[in-house]
Amino acid sequence: MLGVLATTLVLVSAGMLCGSLYLTRRLTAQLPQGPLRNYWSVMLVFVCMFIVGYLGYAWSSRHSHTKPSDLIVPGVFFLGACFVWLTSNLSLRTAVSLMRISFLEEENISDPLTHAFNRRYLDRRLREECANARRTGLPLSVLMLDIDHFKRVNDSFGHQAGDLVLAAFTALVKQQLRSQDILTRFGGEEFVVIATHTPLPGAVELAERLRSAIQSNRFILMDGPGHAPGIGLTCSFGVASLGEEADQASELLGLADTHLYRAKHEGRNRVCAGPSAPLASPEPGTQAEAPAKALAGGGSGIQVLT
Ligand code: GH3
Ligand code: MG
Ligand code: MG
Repeated sequence: MLGVLATTLVLVSAGMLCGSLYLTRRLTAQLPQGPLRNYWSVMLVFVCMFIVGYLGYAWSSRHSHTKPSDLIVPGVFFLGACFVWLTSNLSLRTAVSLMRISFLEEENISDPLTHAFNRRYLDRRLREECANARRTGLPLSVLMLDIDHFKRVNDSFGHQAGDLVLAAFTALVKQQLRSQDILTRFGGEEFVVIATHTPLPGAVELAERLRSAIQSNRFILMDGPGHAPGIGLTCSFGVASLGEEADQASELLGLADTHLYRAKHEGRNRVCAGPSAPLASPEPGTQAEAPAKALAGGGSGIQVLT
């Protein structure tokens, strides 16, 4: 009777280890290739060896359990198997919860159509970056960009095509950005790039690179077999840097927006930037009306207020 009880205990323990093996395999499958996955694979091998050991013990000691103290070893085996099963079960549940949290966090800060960061993230991140820049004294710039005459794309090809173009446009802009730049969708067909550690001339250079990449690209719409219209777009840019004129996130965005407005006003497909905000609709002969000084590449559309 004692022998049957001991053997049953060891076999149940081996069964629990098999369950742990299954849970650990599911956990390993969720992990990317790398050291962590390798460690869990080592754990799998250990569990397999324990299962073989348990079964070997059950077979070899099947007739040797004669007194109650002989149940101690099978009892310890059982507790060990419970521990392994609990550990693998909790690890799997924890990993699944963490993945869900990280997915929700990602959803919370990204725009579903373009996969750029959303407005909520822009507001938070820009406030943080302004505080960092003020503390460290490092430069910070923002680029506000607005696709020119985007309404015409919708009117000519439909809103679905417009959505596809917006997604392709974002991918193109992302390609051109440096790893430290943060691309956010401000709303509609307007985007903001936070260019950290970048002074105004560097930000203007970046904006000009984007402007020219967008202008020379054709956004292809697959419109049935064999017919793929290519849409050409241009984009206007307002660029501003943190400084005396704007030392808060909202002021910085306001300044970039003013320069963007000026870029639209002056004919679109250009970069306007400056340390100070011009007044809207400048009077003839005023400072804002004065010819803008090119920062780089004459005729490239880059203009800086003097
Ligand atoms: P401008 O050069 O002055 O910026 O002209 P615009 O036509 O780009 O600007 P306007 O503000 O007149 O129109 C913006 C257009 O962008 C109209 C709107 O339907 C379109 N738009 C905004 N968000 C989306 C979107 O998510 N998907 C699509 N398909 N269109 C969008
Ligand atoms: Mg527009
Ligand atoms: Mg707009």
